[in-house]
Amino acid sequence: MSETVNTFEAQQQGRPTGPLVHGYEVIIGFETHAQLSTQSKIFSRASTAFGAEPNTQACAVDLALPGTLPVMNKGAVERAIQFGLAIGAHIAPRSIFARKNYFYPDLPKGYQISQFEIPVVQGGAVEFFLGDEKKAVRLVRAHLEEDAGKSLHEDFIGQSGIDLNRAGTPLLEIVTEPDMRSSAEAVAYAKELHKIVTWIGICDGNMQEGSFRCDANVSVRKPGSPLGTRREIKNLNSFKFMQQAIDYEVRWQIEQIEDGHAIQQATVLFNPDTGETRAMRTKEDAADYRYFPDPDLPPLYISEQWVQDVRGQMAELPRNMAARFQSDYGLSDYDATQLTQSLALSSYFEAAAKASGQAKLASNWITGELARRLNGQDLSLEQSPVSAPTLAQLVTRISDGTISNSAAKQVFDALWDGATDVDAIIESKGLKQMNDTGALEAIVQQVIDKNEKNVAEFKAGNDKALNALVGQIMKASQGKANPQQVNDLLRSKLA
Ligand code: ADP
Ligand code: MG
Repeated sequence: MSETVNTFEAQQQGRPTGPLVHGYEVIIGFETHAQLSTQSKIFSRASTAFGAEPNTQACAVDLALPGTLPVMNKGAVERAIQFGLAIGAHIAPRSIFARKNYFYPDLPKGYQISQFEIPVVQGGAVEFFLGDEKKAVRLVRAHLEEDAGKSLHEDFIGQSGIDLNRAGTPLLEIVTEPDMRSSAEAVAYAKELHKIVTWIGICDGNMQEGSFRCDANVSVRKPGSPLGTRREIKNLNSFKFMQQAIDYEVRWQIEQIEDGHAIQQATVLFNPDTGETRAMRTKEDAADYRYFPDPDLPPLYISEQWVQDVRGQMAELPRNMAARFQSDYGLSDYDATQLTQSLALSSYFEAAAKASGQAKLASNWITGELARRLNGQDLSLEQSPVSAPTLAQLVTRISDGTISNSAAKQVFDALWDGATDVDAIIESKGLKQMNDTGALEAIVQQVIDKNEKNVAEFKAGNDKALNALVGQIMKASQGKANPQQVNDLLRSKLA
């Protein structure tokens, strides 16, 4: 394994230093277990449905009864291929299943079937925005494996039981390079990955039910030093806990080092009640698992034709859609990325953009006012009181000059509160823009007369002084003036 660390080391050279915490650089790598959305298990026909009575969905294969043999689930392989295509990875034409040996009561075979030396998905990257900075986290691999069962501790009767319903559930373990440099970046990565797997439909993404579980490997170092020893925080199942756990872990490691202690490689758990991470066990090395190829399963062969077929059935991917939004609608990379946060959002945008013919303006309203309102009330887009065609109508009335942007905000308020007809709202609230130049000129003149100071400043070359005047005129016109027209009038009067 020291070899792996050396490779990581080499790959980290030349990468930018992240934000420092008390003089230390934070290094994070993720291992994510995404439960694949197949009906049946990865090597048996038992159901994968969540929440059944314990041990009602474990068949002879899952119970590891003697004489049973695993049979590969084609749907699980297809989902792995879809993931590889979605993140631009290499799909291995031949990959191998291996036995990962360890003893635990919820693992009846005494080993987990996984992939070790040759995983099915290799390389690729996940791209996302952190604020307005574009990041790319490189993936090492994604491999197929089976889940273990669950120990149930019934404290009130002082007994523990084993539920093997989950044993054999297909997982895709997705491993990154240690490319992340802050808890915020780690959360942004995890959200993006969650978006990808749910978008392509290979995982339901339900974090409470454990369908998407992240392990965060965290270390700290002085900038320019070799990578520090990492601790692995297991099973983070909410984005909020993820951030809290990593922040706590970083502080803890820095304190240890500052106190002169060396960090021991370990597996730790986060306790949401105390907000602390706590060592669970010292970390096993790969050698401890005595990996070897599983003689019960032949190599997995994936032909180029199969990959093409899978590609042909896949819907447009978020990153392709974002590129198309940039070329078709002239959006920025940032806006296009924002609008492809989910399939629902992208369809909403396209519907509004097509109906109004005003893609940029529609984009602004969706990522601005609409997003703010939805977030504020914790609503999903599907619950939005303002539909895409209605937003398109609003955008059309702004672009054809019927209403100003500030009047449009009032229309939006009314729509949010349940009104549905944009033109009727404009009419009843008297929001039509002032198109009568004479009346507008009078207001402009009044404001000029009352604001000698701003006028003088503008004439002295301070362009900002003009904004103050525009603001006053807009106010005096009760938001009905057209700001562009006001601007033009002012400039010609003050020239
Ligand atoms: P293992 O398989 O034993 O868990 P790997 O070497 O495959 O270990 O790495 C697992 C994860 O740990 C990867 O996501 C990798 O990016 C990350 N990682 C490796 N070294 C470090 C480090 N020094 N600091 C933070 N993360 C690391
Ligand atoms: Mg690991």
